[in-house]
Amino acid sequence: MSDDETVEEYLFKIVIIGDSAVGKSNLLSRFARNEFKAHSKATIGVEFQTQSVEIDGKEVKAQIWDTAGQERFRAVTSAYYRGAFGALLVYDISRRATFDNVARWLDELNCKFYTLFHIVYHESKFAAHSDTTVARMLVGNKCDLENTREVSLDEGKSLAESEGLFFIETSALDSTNVWTAFEIVIREIYNNVSRKVL
Ligand code: GDP
Repeated sequence: MSDDETVEEYLFKIVIIGDSAVGKSNLLSRFARNEFKAHSKATIGVEFQTQSVEIDGKEVKAQIWDTAGQERFRAVTSAYYRGAFGALLVYDISRRATFDNVARWLDELNCKFYTLFHIVYHESKFAAHSDTTVARMLVGNKCDLENTREVSLDEGKSLAESEGLFFIETSALDSTNVWTAFEIVIREIYNNVSRKVL
C-alpha cells in the first residue's frame, strides 16, 4: 500500500454537559444509533457511545460521553472531562433555568479543562499533549417545542458569540441539526489537532 492509500483513523473524546433532562442522552442516542427515548430514565454512572464521521476522506471517530445523571448531584468529576477535546453544552429552549445555568457549566468546563492533558490516538499510537484548545458548542435542544419556547434563538446566539462558542439549536426528537452539531465539533477538533499535533 502506498502512503496515499493509508487509511488514517482518529479517535477523540467529547463530553456532553448541561442540566438534567435537557436531552443530553437523547442527543447522543440520536447521533450514535438514530434512536429517541420518550421516557429515558437516567442511570447513574458514566456512559459513552461512539460514532464516526468522514472528514477529508479520513474516518474520524468520536467517543462521546454522557453524564448519565451525575449532574443531578452536582457530581460531574474531573475524570469525566479528562482527555476530552470537545464539549457540547446543552440547554432546553423551553426551560429558561437551564439556559441561566449555562454560565455555571462554562465555569466548570474552563476550570476542569485547563488542568488536563489531552490524549490523541492516531495511527495506532497514543500521544499526550497539553494544548488546551477545546472545541465547545452551545446547543439549544428541544427546538421542536416552539409553542413553549422560553429562550429565543437570538439569546442563544449572542451568549455563544460572547463566550466564543459554536451555536446551534437541535431537536433530538425530530433529528433537527443533531448530526450537524456533532459534526461541527468533530471537524473543529480534527482541524485543531491536525494543525498542531499530527
Ligand atoms: P438528559 O437528562 O439531559 O440526558 O435528558 P434526556 O435525554 O433523558 O431527556 C429528558 C426528557 O426530555 C425525556 O423525556 C426526553 O424524551 C425529552 N427530550 C429529549 N430531547 C428532546 C427533544 O429534542 N424534544 C422534545 N420535545 N423532548 C426531548
